Amino acid sequence: MTESENTKGQPDVLPAALFGLCPRCGQKTLFRSITAFADQCRACGLDYTKFNVGDGPAAFLTLIVGGLVLALALIVELNLHPPMWVHVLLWVPITIGAVVGSLRVSKAALIILEHRNQASEGKIDEGAGREAFADNLFTDRRIGSRGHDLSWFLAAG
Ligand SMILES: [Zn+2]
Repeated sequence: MTESENTKGQPDVLPAALFGLCPRCGQKTLFRSITAFADQCRACGLDYTKFNVGDGPAAFLTLIVGGLVLALALIVELNLHPPMWVHVLLWVPITIGAVVGSLRVSKAALIILEHRNQASEGKIDEGAGREAFADNLFTDRRIGSRGHDLSWFLAAG
């Protein structure tokens, strides 16, 4: 992998995801609102709309956050027995904050990784489709040969 040349000047994935940094120039331009991406980077002009992250991680994150909050609420209830209004005041804002925060970070991480993986091939625009096609061919051939090897093994045994 010749990543060093192509990732020079780019922010690391973790701080970039946490602070919403542009994957190309590292300026804090990724988000237009709490969880919505800007159309493009205000500093370097990188077009964010060509990345297709969507809200894919939302359902997944909601399940994880829901499980964690429920576990914490049970621990608090069983150990401290607070009145019901304490639970409401405590868990409603924590749940909202955790879902929005984790959604924001995970969407930023996806767009950063998407940009980085395309950039690491050295072809950002027209080459990406052909490479994806070539990758698929390679993967299919690998699966095919593995299947063939398995049948040969079974026939021999
Ligand atoms: Zn930028």
